[in-house]
Amino acid sequence: MAKKSIRDIEVTGKRCLVRVDFNVPLDEKDGRMVITDDTRIRETLPTIKYLIEHGAKVILCSHLGRPKGQRSEKESLRPVADHLHTLIGHSVAFSHDTIGAVPAQIIAHMKNGEVALLENVRFEAGEEKNDETLSKALAGLAEIYVNDAFGSAHRAHSSTAGIAAFLPAVSGLLMEKEITYLHDELENPERPFVVILGGAKVNDKIAVINRLLDKADTIIIGGGMAYTFRKLVQGITLGKSLYKPEWEPIAQAALDKAKARGVKLLIPVDAMITDAFDFDAKKIGATKFTAVTESIPDGWEGVDIGPESVKLFAAEIAKAKTVIWNGPMGVFEIPEASKGTFAIAEEIAANRGAKTIIGGGDSVKAVKNAGVADKVTFISTGGGASLELLEGKTLPGVAAINDK
Ligand code: AMP
Repeated sequence: MAKKSIRDIEVTGKRCLVRVDFNVPLDEKDGRMVITDDTRIRETLPTIKYLIEHGAKVILCSHLGRPKGQRSEKESLRPVADHLHTLIGHSVAFSHDTIGAVPAQIIAHMKNGEVALLENVRFEAGEEKNDETLSKALAGLAEIYVNDAFGSAHRAHSSTAGIAAFLPAVSGLLMEKEITYLHDELENPERPFVVILGGAKVNDKIAVINRLLDKADTIIIGGGMAYTFRKLVQGITLGKSLYKPEWEPIAQAALDKAKARGVKLLIPVDAMITDAFDFDAKKIGATKFTAVTESIPDGWEGVDIGPESVKLFAAEIAKAKTVIWNGPMGVFEIPEASKGTFAIAEEIAANRGAKTIIGGGDSVKAVKNAGVADKVTFISTGGGASLELLEGKTLPGVAAINDK
């Protein structure tokens, strides 16, 4: 996409406002808010360290939770400032206001290589409205805008997009990687290029299927959305499995497009089925596997792909030179129904000769839970943003970054 990054400009001595995604989960313990998972903070460390090492004045800006334009102590970024201090070994000045005299004063006293964190930008009512006054006020604190918040790039807010109208705008190192792997690498992928899509609903993923049908050699469809395809292709009955009549024409159009383009479209041939499951309690009733292309009996539903499907998909994954995966193969939150998803995670990780890209959301959890996160090429940090980028949509936060 040829967007400018922090590596393309001079940052030494410059005030850089860096939009990061510090939207971390917090828990209240003994009256204090404690960070329960700091992955998102760690993901931005390469950018922060790069800027520190190059003598920039690093002004970090993020949202946390959904305070809807109101100050709320439980959604303050102060605990993040303390935690960041321990991660980078540099002190982090915390500005309890996001804009105005307080941060301006702090920034005026910053030396090269120092770091400050602004209070939650969503305490400002203008943020989610992409309000120009707020965008200008944020821009007024800095000389360069750095966007490293890929997970928020599908939103046109003041700090993710609007601010870029008033400052030179470049990507951080995380944003740069996300664009490389979820966009650039897929334009001219090394072939065979295998796309694996799963998840619940056909209508949620159809835009991704359609776009990647233009690029892929093979598309593998699993998860809840596969049942509509199985009904159409294999003529089986589905019992209580996830299915909507209105998904049929959508799935049929994808099948037709795959045929017209010579793309191999693979769907499951068997399923693990159950007679009951309670998602909230993570409990499942009796289970069994269907035979190959066997119908699913009334009162039963498919909650995972079966061993024959894993074999079929694994053979394709093993031949790939580029793999992208988005969406689980079954209800992987329930241990009994997670085997198919974990098996696919392992097959992807086992292909060390391919570029293997995990495109956000639940597949990321699956790869981590399967213990193979360090064996894949890239794991996206975005959920909605990854999906939109894979759909070929222009993300406001990416569009706002200056071209090279
Ligand atoms: P998505 O957000 O569209 O990627 O969907 C992820 C969700 O799909 C997960 O919560 C899975 O539990 C769910 N899912 C996957 N396979 C099935 C299935 N066979 N039946 C019901 N839900 C499923």
